[in-house]
Amino acid sequence: MAETVVATSVPTVPILPDAVVGSLSPSRASDFKTCPLLYRFRTIDRLPEAPSRGAARGTVVHAVLERLFDLPAAARTLEAAQQLVDPAWQALVAEAPELGGLFADDGSELAAWLDSARDLIESYFVVEDPSRLEPAAREELVETVVDGLRLRGYVDRLDVSLSGDVRIVDYKTGTIPREAFEAKALFQMKFYALVLWRIRGVVPRQLKLIYLSDRDTLTYAPEADELVRFERTLKAIWVAIARATERADFRPSPSRLCDWCDHQSRCPAFGGTPPPFPHDAVTRIHRDRRELPKPAVEPEL
Ligand code: SF4
Repeated sequence: MAETVVATSVPTVPILPDAVVGSLSPSRASDFKTCPLLYRFRTIDRLPEAPSRGAARGTVVHAVLERLFDLPAAARTLEAAQQLVDPAWQALVAEAPELGGLFADDGSELAAWLDSARDLIESYFVVEDPSRLEPAAREELVETVVDGLRLRGYVDRLDVSLSGDVRIVDYKTGTIPREAFEAKALFQMKFYALVLWRIRGVVPRQLKLIYLSDRDTLTYAPEADELVRFERTLKAIWVAIARATERADFRPSPSRLCDWCDHQSRCPAFGGTPPPFPHDAVTRIHRDRRELPKPAVEPEL
């Protein structure tokens, strides 16, 4: 795919049918695949998780890389991008003041952390030249309904070439193990590829993951039959989620990702006890969902 891309109108949120049996985002589907109990804690119990410097830095860097493209192409320099870091942090901490508590009061830790965010921005410029890009969309909600199952999520960036080829771009700043991260990231990208294919009728030409810490990229060219299989996988995940919910039975599935899990203290795999299953929360989720006359994905939550 040519590097120079042009902005093209990309319809990403169609008018949705009223009937949905369930809703999945890539992160929630991935949670369930990784560990059903983690899905429960995050999606049904909605237990809070401690803020982290890594996650906050990811948010700041994503905000900078989004706002960078508000500038005219010639003004998208490294210096201009790095100057966006401080305002992005200030906007974030205004929204979530508890993040200020991540750093010591004297400002030295925050200064070093902001430098590390600027380093990631510098890494971005090693991988891409933003003056040659005109994204069709940034931080875009993409959403569709497949057989009553709503699939939705936010893509970091969409590029559309002059010939109409679509590229989905995702920025990665995290530090979890590469192989686990890649599998999760590819799952997320296939999810977006499927949604965009269903919306536009054209399989995206390329999925591009930009690993800022490594100054490296991973690209992938999805194919239609692969996305059809992936769609079946998502439906199967939803059926498994619905069954687990019906039975109030979400089991732990320990893996290396437990090292990053906020819920070890209440996880049986680590000697903990989960809180009572919140049936009222399930009732609320159920009530929020609109009825489907003829459910295509069984059983309904
Ligand atoms: S600690 Fe591991 S097994 Fe337990 S909920 Fe978290 S991810 Fe799942």
